[in-house]
Parts: sequence; structure tokens; C-alpha cells
Amino acid sequence: RASAQRPEEVIQRYMEVVAGVQDEDCIICMDQLSNASGYETQSTEEGPSVLPDTVGKFIKCGHTLHMLCMLAMYNNGTKDGSLQCPSCKTIYGEKTGTQPKGKMEIYSIGQSLPGHPDCGTIQIIYSIPPGLQGPEHPNPGQPYSCRGFPRFCFLPDNDKGRKVLELLKVAWMRRLIFTVGTSSTTGEPDTVVWNNIHHKTEMMSNLSGHGYPDPNYLDNVLSELASQGVTEDCFKA
Ligand code: NAD
Repeated sequence: RASAQRPEEVIQRYMEVVAGVQDEDCIICMDQLSNASGYETQSTEEGPSVLPDTVGKFIKCGHTLHMLCMLAMYNNGTKDGSLQCPSCKTIYGEKTGTQPKGKMEIYSIGQSLPGHPDCGTIQIIYSIPPGLQGPEHPNPGQPYSCRGFPRFCFLPDNDKGRKVLELLKVAWMRRLIFTVGTSSTTGEPDTVVWNNIHHKTEMMSNLSGHGYPDPNYLDNVLSELASQGVTEDCFKA
């Protein structure tokens, strides 16, 4: 699903060229912005590329860096048409991840969660079967394993919990909930792991630390979603 746009065009959509550069360092290469980027310009058939001494400024957050350094970072990633400012992590465009194919199901449970006595519970079930890694994964062509699937997750069925659910659906569509990598719990490589958006996988106990009660959970997961570019703005477009 990677975008067909030229990488140079993606950079130029979200960064503007700055003239008269101050004495600052590029956050990617750590060299001064007044020196040229160490990356080499790739000349392409489709049009002019970015020159090593061009300094760019992100249109929203205003951070400056070598445009060619940013192009190199983009080309090293999933090339999905989105950029993330390496200084403040502001996302431009729609960030997508590398979550393998699977299923997200949602159910309603009458019972309340510890700490949320006034409402029922939303249950999310994620199912991902084993498969072969694609070009976006650490070892393309090799298999990936899937431990502990289906994974059962729980949210309080109140306004904030339902809002989190809607945002998790967006994150799922954008392939952001899981990734293929090394499990930090088991050390197993080439396996499907959580990807920085915490889920509560225990309903009535908290033996793993991933259960209830946790009064900060909904706010924490909202900010984790926001740092992947998933916010209520997704519903305004
Ligand atoms: P990981 O160990 O690489 O950790 C990635 C993130 O997931 C970390 O932020 C960690 O805090 C969080 N995490 C770790 N254990 C978790 C848990 N039980 N529930 C929710 N979040 C958890 O990630 P991973 O390898 O995907 O998962 C960790 C382990 O938990 C794995 O061994 C997996 O099999 C197991 N697990 C089992 C179930 C189940 O329903 N049986 C559900 C979730 C995770």
C-alpha cells in the first residue's frame, strides 16, 4: 500500500526551503546547517532532486534540517507518503505501519471493569495468523510467528472508552497496532509484537500490569495514539 508519490515530492509538500541559514545543527546528521548534507543527491529521471546544501523547514512545527537528510530518512522507512519531524515527532500526512494481515473484532460485555463500576465493557479480539514477512519487515521472505493470539483486550464502555475504540479502529486500518520484530518480553525475533499503543489484556485481574484498575490508562493510550498521528482530527477530514 506504499504510496506511488516521488519521495522528493513528499519532502517538498511538508517542508519549505529556507534561505540565510543560522548557526544551527541538523538533527539528523548533527553537522551545521550551513555545511552541506553528507548524503549524496540521487539524480532521478522524473525530475530534479534535492541538493545537499538545501535547508528545509517543516510547515507546521517549524523545525529546520537538511532536506537531503530528511529525504534519506524517508527513503529508509516505509515510504508511505507521510513524514515525522525528527525533533518534535509532529506527523505530516497519514502515518502507516507494518502490521501483518489479521482481524479486529469488537464485542460488548455486561460486566464492569475494576475502577469503572458505572458501565459495561468493550472487548476487542485481535487475531493474526502466521505468515511470511514482506519487504516492509525486518527479514523479508522469512516467516513470522504469532504468540498469544487471539489477544483479548478491554476498554470501559463509556464515552472516553468508545472514543479510544474508534481511534484504535483507525490505528488498525493504518497497520499501527502490531509490528513484526523481536519481543521484548520473550526475546523471540521475527514475531508479531505490540507497537507502542498499550492495550489492557486482563479484565478482572492485574497480574501482568496490563490490567485494571488503572485510572490513567485512557489518557495514556490517547496520547500514544496521538503520537502515531491518530487523533479526533481523523474524523473531520
Ligand atoms: P513485547 O514483549 O515486545 O512488548 C511490547 C509492548 O507490549 C510493551 O510496551 C509491553 O509493555 C507490552 N506488553 C507486554 N506484555 C503485555 C501483555 N501481556 N498485555 C499487554 N501489553 C503487554 O510485546 P509482545 O511480545 O507482543 O507481548 C508480550 C508478551 O505478552 C508475549 O509473550 C505475548 O505472547 C504475551 N501476550 C499474551 C496475550 C494473551 O492473551 N495470551 C496477550 C497479549 C500479550
